[in-house]
Amino acid sequence: MIQYNTIKARLYPTPEQAELFEKTFGCCRYLWNRMLADQQRFYEETGAHFIPTPAKYKTSSPFLAEVDNQALIQEHNQLSRAFRAFFKHPESFGYPNFKRKKDDRDSFTACNHEFASGPTIYTTSDGIRMTKAGIVKAKFPRRPQGWWKLKRITVSKTRTGKYFCSILYEAAVKQPEAVTPRAETTVGLKYSLAHFYVDDSGHLADPPRWLKQSQAKLAKLQQRLARMEPGSQNYAEAVQKYRLIHEHIANQRRDFLHKESRRIANAWDAVCLRADALDEMAKMLTQDPSAVRESGYRMFRELLRYKLERQGKALILVDRYTPTTRTCSACGQVQPEIPYPRRSWRCPRCGTSHDREVNAAVNIKRCGLAQFAGQSA
Ligand SMILES: [Zn+2]
Repeated sequence: MIQYNTIKARLYPTPEQAELFEKTFGCCRYLWNRMLADQQRFYEETGAHFIPTPAKYKTSSPFLAEVDNQALIQEHNQLSRAFRAFFKHPESFGYPNFKRKKDDRDSFTACNHEFASGPTIYTTSDGIRMTKAGIVKAKFPRRPQGWWKLKRITVSKTRTGKYFCSILYEAAVKQPEAVTPRAETTVGLKYSLAHFYVDDSGHLADPPRWLKQSQAKLAKLQQRLARMEPGSQNYAEAVQKYRLIHEHIANQRRDFLHKESRRIANAWDAVCLRADALDEMAKMLTQDPSAVRESGYRMFRELLRYKLERQGKALILVDRYTPTTRTCSACGQVQPEIPYPRRSWRCPRCGTSHDREVNAAVNIKRCGLAQFAGQSA
């Protein structure tokens, strides 16, 4: 089984290397737009889909030769992939767009090639060797295992002006043995706007207070920006500060989601969730649909999935139309409804008092286990 791992390193390019990166970002965008324009023209004239290769543009645009050819080839591959996705699923993938500097992410990708003389891309103790740029100083949050193979890198620049490099490694691993979940080793989680999630024994995830604090800061800064004169030195500084806080919030959130999913994936043999349609739920529960999106629940679910899978464990998604909230987890009777925002209720049949979310988590776990048993039977 092939497993992919990514390590994201912060880069500290010299001014010359930074200039080369900027040039590469620009060339990639330029090439993308040229290829897309030619594809469109070609399609109008002949009715056939065709994307010229980067080599075609080098004579008329000699500056393309100044940057890593690999990055240009990757741009061609990405455009081809974008078209393939569009042709196959036009309902979910839009027609590829032209890239504009002002709203495009600054990035380029390059693949590693193994030659007899050695690989084109490799890491050193405090740097990454790239084609054209040479060794770029880097700080690694962790190191790859000895058997991992470096496949490709993506260099990017954040809006706050920091450079990063995502290094993709390939590793052949043994397929983990499938773990059969039992009731004692399975947890049910109910998504909760207030607590992120509630589990079936009533444990709450840490409410992301840091997020609220940072968001309050962000709102204040936004007001200040609204009163300032665009174009002034102060304005530029405030914008930079705004971006830094934004970046900080994104980092905090990612960190929280990684740690929380790691903790759960290690502690339990299986996790049951409801396959909620998060966008619909957001509309229903709150005036502010960004509340659900921003909480990162979707990312949390995907992190959980792969962290469990790597240990042979299952993420079990319970059908979203299962009445997990309205069913009494003690006697099984289904109520017509438990109006939101009632937090607790008593079952009229057996008299058990329920916390709305804990009761739902218990039902999610029970349904999930039954579903899993049904699938493997
Ligand atoms: Zn009951």
